[in-house]
Amino acid sequence: MASVSTMRQLIAGNWKMNGLSQSLVEIETVARALLKAPPNADAMICPPATLIARASAIAGGALAIGAQDCHEKDHGAFTGDLSAGMLKDSGASAVILGHSERRQYHNETSPRVAAKTRAAHRAGLLAIVCIGETEAQRDSGRANDVCSAQISESIPDNATAADTVVAYEPVWAIGTGRTAKPDDIVGMHAHIRRCLERRFGPVGRAMRVLYGGSVNPGNAADILPLEGVDGALVGGASLRASDFLGILAKARAT
Ligand code: PEP
Repeated sequence: MASVSTMRQLIAGNWKMNGLSQSLVEIETVARALLKAPPNADAMICPPATLIARASAIAGGALAIGAQDCHEKDHGAFTGDLSAGMLKDSGASAVILGHSERRQYHNETSPRVAAKTRAAHRAGLLAIVCIGETEAQRDSGRANDVCSAQISESIPDNATAADTVVAYEPVWAIGTGRTAKPDDIVGMHAHIRRCLERRFGPVGRAMRVLYGGSVNPGNAADILPLEGVDGALVGGASLRASDFLGILAKARAT
């Protein structure tokens, strides 16, 4: 089983509610570049659901395509929602769950995130489960406790390193241009690893833990080599192929 420091990194882009048909050229550009020069890391882009089918056709094998949310049920009377099976059927191989924007604007609780994670696993999707503290929680010294609770409540018991990735995203660093300090990132990733190992044993040792929060081509070289950082979840800087490729170029060689 891979040890923490030798895991292949994952760089996943979260386009959020951005992207029309014309944005597919960015995916095409990334996929072409990766075919020409295979990266050190696994690469994934999570466009809005409306683009998943076309994105996955364009991406081929070079770039994985993910979704940004799913419903916890497999089907039913849930107008406007999408099941994990539908996303898989459209060409997604992964889904971001429990992003702080969903927790904040859609009142998603950790138990609901766990139910969605179980649904993702049933459909054969990799679940990227997001956790992270707010600025007030960090300032009051509760960051570790918040993240431990989110780990125990948002990740189901039978999760494995093959079907689950954790993304540590301090809420105050998302979309703000502020990144956590290297010491804080290393400290929190070590804390998350301890929580995962305590709960899942060797499986928890092998689960990838990504950092997310204003990662860009300019700071990726400072963040991606940090101990315990198994990749990045990237928002704004994943929208342009050149920026996303610039981050991927800084991934750690294994
Ligand atoms: C995100 O949306 O997960 C994220 C990290 O956004 P940004 O990189 O823009 O801060």
